[in-house]
Amino acid sequence: MRDLLTALLELQELEIVLEESQIVHGDATAQVAVALTARIGRLRAGVSTQDLRRFDALRRSGPAVVRERGGTCGGCHLNVTRGDLNRMRRCEVDWVCPNCGRYLFLSEPRPSAVE
Ligand SMILES: [Zn+2]
Repeated sequence: MRDLLTALLELQELEIVLEESQIVHGDATAQVAVALTARIGRLRAGVSTQDLRRFDALRRSGPAVVRERGGTCGGCHLNVTRGDLNRMRRCEVDWVCPNCGRYLFLSEPRPSAVE
């Protein structure tokens, strides 16, 4: 009997530990974390080392990628010249804000804005 109760007591404690673990961490959260980590890994595998280095350096001080809207950088809120934007859209230069150096996600140009 003692052996049985010892086993049951241990089982009970383990179940409590498991429940507390699920409350604190959450099985679903763990699965999401694993899935996200895998996805991030795949994405990073498709980016050059140079860009990753830049990206990681930018991320340490805020967003690494910002949107351009109406010729304004979403990171530093300074205007990017039409010439710079056109060079970026023609992929003659990297899509990087000349002011703050963040990756600049360019908006779709209005037809009148393209020369
Ligand atoms: Zn900027």
